[in-house]
Amino acid sequence: MENLTNIGVIKDILERYGFSFSKGLGQNFLINPSVCPKIAEMGNAASGWGVLEIGAGIGVLTHELAKRADKVAVVEIDGRLIPILNETLAEHDNITIINEDVMKADLAAIIRENFSGSKVAVCANLPYYITSPVIMLLLESRLPIDSITVMVQKEAGKRICAGMGTRDAGAVTAAVRYFSEPRLLFDVSRGSFMPSPNVDSCVIRLDVRREPPVSVNDEKFFFRTVRGAFSQRRKNLANSLSASLGIPKNDVSEAIKQTGLSMNIRPEQLSLDEFAALADALLIYCR
Ligand code: SAM
Repeated sequence: MENLTNIGVIKDILERYGFSFSKGLGQNFLINPSVCPKIAEMGNAASGWGVLEIGAGIGVLTHELAKRADKVAVVEIDGRLIPILNETLAEHDNITIINEDVMKADLAAIIRENFSGSKVAVCANLPYYITSPVIMLLLESRLPIDSITVMVQKEAGKRICAGMGTRDAGAVTAAVRYFSEPRLLFDVSRGSFMPSPNVDSCVIRLDVRREPPVSVNDEKFFFRTVRGAFSQRRKNLANSLSASLGIPKNDVSEAIKQTGLSMNIRPEQLSLDEFAALADALLIYCR
């Protein structure tokens, strides 16, 4: 169905199905007609590609994806939206709708069953309450995904796309850079949604790397080190790491020195290479 950004059309659908928005599920539907075509085009929805969407709403983005990609599989948690989607997306024969929680769904099986032989893109206007968990789940589970193009809150987008060594860098910055090359695509104002949220948004794209840019002895421990370093931004690095990793402060200080870092360095000043070297140096104290 065209015109899914038209407020009259949306109101008519919602009324006919007796649908009310769930704040808890992050239901802010896109009503700005220029945004979904841009996400689809910049997010690799094209011939030769399968697209996994997370959170269909009434199908406004799904429709634009299905017009361009070979196949679309969309995971939507809210069962009340399924009959609506069956109506609004009826003209497409290349969409599979899956009524599940994305955090619990077997994404590897969904990709295998829907996109065999195609390149795979994820496109979504993500529910804000699970932005980072969804992105980390997609990256950490090493699914055969080539790109992830998602709408997130502007602040979250800034942190995710920040350069290492800059003030905006956080644990999620390092983790995302380990798995992908992130890029901020464009901003989207709060007035582009119904209901309108209290903050502005942006669309980011993560191009998934084949190989990580640094090598570490223990990947899980590397991520624990990164999270630990950023866990208490007001404490110094040695104290934060000692508390979060359960390693005596003297040993942590020794590892920091051994890595050639200043004792006063702040976590946001470290590069990915320095985090990798620090994690490897700390690892011996954990055994
Ligand atoms: N794509 C639509 C759009 O742009 O208008 C809807 C976007 S809305 C921000 C987020 C959607 O994600 C809602 O439809 C919501 O029900 C769904 N959602 C929320 N939590 C989810 C979860 N854990 N798994 C799958 N979908 C979820």
